[in-house]
Amino acid sequence: MTDTTRTVGVLGTGIMGAAMARNLLRAGHTVRAWNRTRDKAEPLAADGAQVVDTAAEAVRDADVILTMLYDGHTALEVMREAAPAARAGAAWIQSTTAGLDAVPRLAALAAEHGLLFYDAPVLGTKQPAEAGQLTVLAAGPQAGRDAVAPVFDAVGARTVWTGEDGAAATSTRLKLVANSWVIAATTATGEALALAKGLGVDPQGFFDLISGGPLDMGYLHAKAALILDGGLEPPSFAVTTAEKDARLIVAAGEQCGVRLDVAAASAERFARAAARGHGGEDMAAAYFASFDEKD
Ligand code: NAP
Repeated sequence: MTDTTRTVGVLGTGIMGAAMARNLLRAGHTVRAWNRTRDKAEPLAADGAQVVDTAAEAVRDADVILTMLYDGHTALEVMREAAPAARAGAAWIQSTTAGLDAVPRLAALAAEHGLLFYDAPVLGTKQPAEAGQLTVLAAGPQAGRDAVAPVFDAVGARTVWTGEDGAAATSTRLKLVANSWVIAATTATGEALALAKGLGVDPQGFFDLISGGPLDMGYLHAKAALILDGGLEPPSFAVTTAEKDARLIVAAGEQCGVRLDVAAASAERFARAAARGHGGEDMAAAYFASFDEKD
């Protein structure tokens, strides 16, 4: 393909999907957007998207289908409805963090309908998504890369190719490793701040102590600020989504015989924070899992 503009069917316009759709529009692509809750997709019309009622309408005639849904099960359900309407030979970029069990099933569905499957989870949260600065981890056939490259370029600053077989989930494997780090750092931030509060230690004293040394990190300050300055809503990455990812990480470890205690404990902390009413807040709100009462 020499023309670099694509017709992209975007399925799922949540925190990440809406931002990615906007960047596709900015880059000159045609976007047909579908979301289960149509109201959430509607604002994209002002950016030039065609907002449609069904997933099938979004993918009909699309060169590229982009799924950015909650989890693998959701992506499978939505694409079971949509795929029969898609053009054989179209590319499917599957960016939902779906987990190791789901990716081969999604790839099999793509094969059933003659779609070129790209396992393409992304690294980066709401702000990089809005800025078109995500890192796309991609695995899929060489044959369709010309079709998908302009889409990756519009949503991301960098594409890291991990293989040619999307079904092998090489990108999802790398994504799960990266997310295990993100989740551990989030959990550690919440626990350090909770302990500081319990012990009557000024968090600034802790920040000053590690300032400039190898234990200091930007991520600690970003997540701590959300907790300390009341910036947990709207979320960049919701507690419930983080719980889903922590459980995918634990399951991936079980599959390869690796025990992951921190990810398992993090999943429980996210679940406890959600049970206390923080499920829709940023995952930094796992902090509240340290206290008996909603604080
Ligand atoms: P989100 O804002 O909660 O969006 C979730 C999307 O899934 C919404 O479009 C939602 O539709 C849809 N959905 C949920 N259940 C559904 C169902 N049963 N049927 C149809 N649609 C359904 O989440 P997000 O943060 O954008 O995350 C989307 C994906 O990206 C997740 O897999 C997440 O792990 C991954 N991710 C997130 C981040 C991040 O920082 N946020 C970063 C990298 C990757 P409704 O609007 O109707 O609920």
